[in-house]
Amino acid sequence: MQIEINKSRNRQRTVSAKVVGETIQISAPQNIPDEKLKEIIENLRSRIEKRTKKRDLTSDTNLQAIVQNLNEKYFEGEIEVQSIEYSTNQDKIFGCCTYREKRIRISHRLATMPTWVRDYVIIHEMAHIIEPNHSKSFWGLVNRYPLTERARGYLIAKGATEEEF
Ligand SMILES: [Zn+2]
Repeated sequence: MQIEINKSRNRQRTVSAKVVGETIQISAPQNIPDEKLKEIIENLRSRIEKRTKKRDLTSDTNLQAIVQNLNEKYFEGEIEVQSIEYSTNQDKIFGCCTYREKRIRISHRLATMPTWVRDYVIIHEMAHIIEPNHSKSFWGLVNRYPLTERARGYLIAKGATEEEF
């Protein structure tokens, strides 16, 4: 991404930005300190890059199709998933699920892990739609996926906590 800075002498007090094609156009007050401007630009750049990455990841891999597949294979198609998408804000956890709304988000880090690990996390979050807690019946559902133990080992080695994954 390119950055274009316009400093304005007008009474502008705040920094604003818009993305035009591959360029981030920034308008800033004339007297803004360089340090401050640099900080703002870095923040913006990382936010925009995360957003782009998330969008690319989600459209590259058809997560909806994967969910449907797993649903039919392991849950007789009975789990209703409203939406699933990659998230670039999950550095510590691998997935989360708002079970009331049936929405699943999985970490962008899973995109570079083996697909059977990603599938495990999706299964895990799908099971939460039925069982919000890590109860016995929750694990009963998750264990329908034959690679569960292997995937858990993999994720724990990558820093997941045992209680969660
Ligand atoms: Zn869980």
